[in-house]
Amino acid sequence: MFAQLQPVATDPILGLMAAYKEDTNPNKVDLGVGVYKDGQGHTAVLKCVKEAEALRLKNEDSKTYIGMAGDLGFNNHIEKLALGVGHKALLANRITTAHTPGGTGALRVAAEFIKKANPNATIWVTSPTWANHISMFKAAGLNVKEYTYYDYATKGLNEEAMFADLATVPAGDVVLVHACCHNPSGMDLTFAQWQRFTDIANERGFTPLVDMAYQGFGSGLDEDAKGLRYLADNVEEMLLCSSCSKNFGLYRERIGAVSIMSADSKVMEITRVNLLSVVRSIYSMPPAHGAIVVANILDSTELTALWHQELAEMRDRINNYRQLIIDKLAGEGVQQDFSFITRQHGMFSFLGIDKAQIARLRSEFSIYMVDSSRVSIAGLNHSNIDYFAKSVATVLQ
Ligand code: PLP
Repeated sequence: MFAQLQPVATDPILGLMAAYKEDTNPNKVDLGVGVYKDGQGHTAVLKCVKEAEALRLKNEDSKTYIGMAGDLGFNNHIEKLALGVGHKALLANRITTAHTPGGTGALRVAAEFIKKANPNATIWVTSPTWANHISMFKAAGLNVKEYTYYDYATKGLNEEAMFADLATVPAGDVVLVHACCHNPSGMDLTFAQWQRFTDIANERGFTPLVDMAYQGFGSGLDEDAKGLRYLADNVEEMLLCSSCSKNFGLYRERIGAVSIMSADSKVMEITRVNLLSVVRSIYSMPPAHGAIVVANILDSTELTALWHQELAEMRDRINNYRQLIIDKLAGEGVQQDFSFITRQHGMFSFLGIDKAQIARLRSEFSIYMVDSSRVSIAGLNHSNIDYFAKSVATVLQ
């Protein structure tokens, strides 16, 4: 039976990671993978996480099953982190949350839940979007369509075309929107665009699914959730998928959450049991470690303050390097306008260079980025930024 299987194309990012690993050039630069790296090129464990893990080791007195919704303390915190303490939907008991294996797990559970609620639903994703969105939603049996988002020519949002596309979405479909730090473009909705998005959601009757994988990486924890909070204030139903991979640096612990907001607490109760039945049929119950670590941090004023500080360090480093890329390229005599890089947020930006230039950067200079020219800004640091700028200037000539 297995011999009949055909090879499957792997995610190009995995191939890129493997090629980078094998490259023996001491100057090699990895701008592919979306993982935060510090000024030394290292993805360190956050100090707040180390302390929270020590607490967990000390206090844990059982390894019994955690339950399908996962850690309730974590769920409580993650809802407040996303929506703000005292959000009216929380007070009205309209939201149910399950902690999941990563943001990816949250998205897959959300997809299965949507399939259950409306088997004919199409899910609309931004063009372009994180590649895994499309494969995951298709794997869950959903139809997937794209709506216009990034404009490669202006290196900004194609606002009118986006809203024109959204105005054709039928009632009963789901529209995925990135809360902040859009992957892959770094181009986010302005607050006015969130307002317009909310109006269209209500006019058309589609359900928003907000994917928030980078809260705190753009402008700040509250700033990054501003659009999503406005949306949650003004629609009856929505889904939210959160991830703690980046903002808590808990990538390999696989911790995220799916939250579903219903029109009232009665519908929420039906939503809750359906959500849990989806979880039960996939992995039964989530792993506990990451959730308890995050809950330990958010339970403690001191650890929360330390987390805020460490998160701000990561965010500031990326934002400083956004400016530095522009300055260094200008310093190398590059005429092309790269100012768009500081108008974008989070881990990524499209550099806007062509495939031949990307291939040259890889083959001649061992600088690795995906073919779309998406760069993971945190891959740059004081020891490679000059080399990067010089190399880019060379291929742009
Ligand atoms: N959503 C987006 C847009 C992402 O970029 C990612 C990770 O790269 C995720 C969700 C899922 O993150 P994870 O499963 O690592 O928590």
